[in-house]
Amino acid sequence: MPNIKTLTVLGTGVLGSQIAYQAAFHGFAVTAYDIHDQVLEKARARFARLAGIYQAEKVAGASEGKAETALDNLRLTDDLADAVADADLVIEAVPELLELKRDVYRKLADLAPARTIFATNSSTLLPSDLKDFTGRPDRFLAIHYANNIWAQNIAEVMGTTETAPAVYDAVVEFARNSGLEPIEIKKEKAGYVLNSLLVPLLNAAAGLLLQGIADPQTIDKTWRIATGAPSGPFQIYDVVGLATAYNIASSSSDAGSQAFAHYLKDNYIDKGKLGVSTGEGFYTY
Ligand code: NAD
Repeated sequence: MPNIKTLTVLGTGVLGSQIAYQAAFHGFAVTAYDIHDQVLEKARARFARLAGIYQAEKVAGASEGKAETALDNLRLTDDLADAVADADLVIEAVPELLELKRDVYRKLADLAPARTIFATNSSTLLPSDLKDFTGRPDRFLAIHYANNIWAQNIAEVMGTTETAPAVYDAVVEFARNSGLEPIEIKKEKAGYVLNSLLVPLLNAAAGLLLQGIADPQTIDKTWRIATGAPSGPFQIYDVVGLATAYNIASSSSDAGSQAFAHYLKDNYIDKGKLGVSTGEGFYTY
């Protein structure tokens, strides 16, 4: 089984910065790559902010210096060849655009050593959509993280039919060694396990609201009390962000989703109420 010691993360946005910091926190030598200097400056600020969050939220070891040491394990660069020259694993967290991602893999295929494993963090694309651009389909798969990785610490690992079993096992082991609970997915599935469960729940909640069956508070209360879950679907909408919910609903051809998109736009988006991030959504924070 390949031994993963060095990680390169492509993209230092919302998820890429969290993936890089989490691995650095657990002692991996991490290189974070982004397209130019100004973005890397923002990445530095993101990493410093994450160090503060790990301490404030008392992630195990954070107060004993690990949160600060993690920053020393992180190297930033805007030179792709340099970024991947010594990578055992490259995790790609660039924007969710098929052609952009394919282009990144075309470049990577030429620049990375033959031993390097590539993994995509894509939420909506299947690894099969990308594998033919990697130059190494046997060393390519998906590792999908949830936002707020230090708390919602799952890593869904999903290969294609061409992913070598030893490569799959190595990435599962890497996930475990970087403080995550690996979720082993046996076959390709859009939405992985988490979103295959979550999206139908959120859609059903939207339907109950739009049909006038019950209000968000009642729907959430029902779910919390009857299942023991800490949050109901509208609380989850507020955390995900109503702009994201709107983008997903409006891009669906389904009539119910379109109606929900209009509802969100008129009642929330146009009023600047985007959920927890703006202090107000279905609830006030
Ligand atoms: P983001 O927009 O916050 O960050 C993307 C980063 O990629 C930016 O820093 C951008 O400068 C950089 N970038 C752009 N072009 C690049 C290139 N050619 N090479 C390298 N970097 C490039 O996006 P995000 O929310 O972090 O999402 C990134 C990936 O993670 C997507 O595939 C998304 O589906 C997935 N994801 C996101 C979430 C989430 O909650 N945001 C959760 C799970 C998975």
